[in-house]
Amino acid sequence: MQNPYWSSFVKNLVPYTPGEQPKMHNLIKLNTNENAYNISPKVLESIKEHTNNTLKLYPDPTAQELCEALAHLHDVHPNQVFAGNGSDEVLGFAFHALLKHKKPVLFPDITYSFYPVYCNLYNINYKTIPLTDDFRIDLKKYNAENACGIVITNPNAPTGLILNKKIIQHYLETHPEQIILVDEAYIDFGGESVIPLIQYYPNLLIIRTFSKFHAFAGLRVGYAIGNSELIEGIRRVKDSFNSYPLDRLAQIGAIASIKDIQWSINNAQKIIQNRQYLIKNLSELGFKILNSKSNFIFASYPKLSAEFLAKQLRKENILVRHFNTKRIQNWLRITIGNETECQTLYKTINEIISIY
Ligand SMILES: *Cc1c(COP(=O)(O)O)cnc(C)c1O
Repeated sequence: MQNPYWSSFVKNLVPYTPGEQPKMHNLIKLNTNENAYNISPKVLESIKEHTNNTLKLYPDPTAQELCEALAHLHDVHPNQVFAGNGSDEVLGFAFHALLKHKKPVLFPDITYSFYPVYCNLYNINYKTIPLTDDFRIDLKKYNAENACGIVITNPNAPTGLILNKKIIQHYLETHPEQIILVDEAYIDFGGESVIPLIQYYPNLLIIRTFSKFHAFAGLRVGYAIGNSELIEGIRRVKDSFNSYPLDRLAQIGAIASIKDIQWSINNAQKIIQNRQYLIKNLSELGFKILNSKSNFIFASYPKLSAEFLAKQLRKENILVRHFNTKRIQNWLRITIGNETECQTLYKTINEIISIY
């Protein structure tokens, strides 16, 4: 579609395609990595309690109280924290503020597909580096002399594979000139965060989301942690765009969720158990599954195409994510559901593959 009122910029824009959010009921929705369990009841109580006439007033533009709670949680200083409307927004601000230079930014060929979209939106020069044949990120291939920085998702999406902290630290140590942006959207499902390293490396920025670990996808809260000057750069972009990205209820809810962090930790443990159940049982059926540290698995079945399998699952009201992209065409990204959902998924897959 083209429209005469569109700017030439919009005509050439290629937006990100989010996973489907269908209106159908009775769906087992394993396609967008939402949390399998509910938001903490204390979050809901707190939001209800604050649903009153204070909503006619603008929220705190800096989300100071939330930043303080996050600083306390991660043992950093509040001026090392920036909070925004979901990590997608925080990532957008960070790309704009820190990665727009003459030299390109580097990221893997297979990773969160929003990164090239931000680059196109902000006219940022970028280059992709192929994952190894077994889908790992090999930082030795990131020849950063010719780059302004690198972006990695850790654990990576959609593979679920993690790079350990030592390897990232070595890279930081040997590349002081480059920004290292680590998207830790899934770190709470079994990985080790690099947040403690910000005290030693002023070039490290970590991006986090409440959507997965805190089950907040519908409330939109994300944040960045790093050296206070990097945070100030991001704040400048935010204040040139929208002073109030986080509404009152999202701020209140996020603070309540941090106070009740044990709720999310318990749910993450259940998700890890369900992940082990699926990895074990689907492997026994002949699936190839990468060693995920996320709330999803990346799986391939040698005898049936991933696209076909996704279609068959859909007929049974189970949604999973298939990317029609080179190298991963024959893989499915399957979000880890609750116990019942995982059992139903296993049973249904077992039935499908016994027919074909
Ligand atoms: C889900 C996801 C995000 C987006 O999180 P929101 O806070 O919901 O915007 C960012 N990065 C990665 C790698 C994700 O998987």
